[in-house]
Amino acid sequence: MRRIIEDYLQRIKDKKHLNAFLEVFEDECLAKADDIDLRLANKQPVGKLAGLVVGIKDLISYKDHSLTCSSKILKGFTAKFSATAVERLLLEDAIIIGRQNCDEFGMGSSNKNSAYGRVLNNIDNNLVAGGSSGGSAVAVQADLCMVSLGSDTGGSVRQPASFNGVIGLKPTYGNVSRHGLAAFASSFDVIGILSKDLADNKKVFDVICGKDEFDSSSSDVLIPETKATDKSKKLVYFKQVLESEGLSEEVRSHFETWIQKLKEQGYTVEEANFPLLEYLLPTYYILTMAEASSNLSRYDGVRYGLRAKENDLYGLYSKTRSKGFGEEVKRRIMMGTFVLSAGYYDAYYTKAQRVRSLIKERTKELLKTYDFIISPTAPGPAFEANKEKNSPIEEYLQDIFTVHASLAGLPAISVPMGKTKKGLPTGFHIVANEFEEHALYTFSEYLVTL
Ligand code: GLN
Repeated sequence: MRRIIEDYLQRIKDKKHLNAFLEVFEDECLAKADDIDLRLANKQPVGKLAGLVVGIKDLISYKDHSLTCSSKILKGFTAKFSATAVERLLLEDAIIIGRQNCDEFGMGSSNKNSAYGRVLNNIDNNLVAGGSSGGSAVAVQADLCMVSLGSDTGGSVRQPASFNGVIGLKPTYGNVSRHGLAAFASSFDVIGILSKDLADNKKVFDVICGKDEFDSSSSDVLIPETKATDKSKKLVYFKQVLESEGLSEEVRSHFETWIQKLKEQGYTVEEANFPLLEYLLPTYYILTMAEASSNLSRYDGVRYGLRAKENDLYGLYSKTRSKGFGEEVKRRIMMGTFVLSAGYYDAYYTKAQRVRSLIKERTKELLKTYDFIISPTAPGPAFEANKEKNSPIEEYLQDIFTVHASLAGLPAISVPMGKTKKGLPTGFHIVANEFEEHALYTFSEYLVTL
């Protein structure tokens, strides 16, 4: 084990310029490796994940380790407890190698919104890593760890997975405890898993999922196992997705080729109308900004991390928040406060809640007929990082295909769909019914052989 960990640590050093890790737990993971080696030598039992090298997004608590959410506001903050997901990994002897860079509080699609600098895409350093779990995806792609725990509110595991040619699973909402995951938008947030290997992804999922007494929204539904390559599965895609304005030609043609292949293999793949597509992004952004403005009010300079020097209380709050939060986080707090304000609450927040219910209902209806909803994961491959400035709207449009599963609380996976002419990965996105993660895994197993 020690040799393997040393190799990983060396690669992390060699690839330091990628900025994927904010901290590496070098001594700790070597000690853990030695402990596993010793137990193996003494024929003592080891956990199911013994030796699995895992990185965790800097939004996930690990007791007695720093937690910054890639924000200046949490500089110097040490986690008081471990997230349940981390606790479960440790119990099975996974080795946690470090804390990964991400967009501040998980807000973004490029990893440019980190207070600690952007993550570089390892395939082409001029491109973005994707976000918000960009460090987690790049670390897997560059073999700096085997698996990463990311978080996915609207696509933050799946879109960077697609940009980096790896696998990214967003579980059903509530299927993995949120205890110890810093809150962005609580009715959407879920811990997700990135890896190159599907079997590793599933192993980790099986360990971290399930009821947790610390998260009342967690569920204890038993997840059914499914048979591999079940050709009776019915798939649907939306006409509006293929007509979508921002969809790159190459991604469209990859996706169409895959539809063709699946049909040839005997799957039923049908086109459906989903007129709500244009409401997905506005609904997602109104609701998540509202929730974020409320969740992030706890960072006031009194309880956590950064505290600006100021004698009066309101001065302390406003100075700390002005200095501590980055531009995108501030934008979202302001927009969120606006949509929750007395005069606009019904027009925006209540309306968006209604549309969310409608989206959930229609989707549920559709999933009575079909097993999976398929689309590209993102409208294009990784984009240029150094364009003068990507407008926030441009970044929001990245989420057009991923937010559907988030609004509906459904599990979804991104698997590599092939490469563009420039050699950039694209992703194939599959949404299933609640608690059908295993069906996603078995179908993906088949897809990766396509
Ligand atoms: N890109 C999306 C956003 O900025 C998704 C973020 C996420 O899933 N954490 O909100």
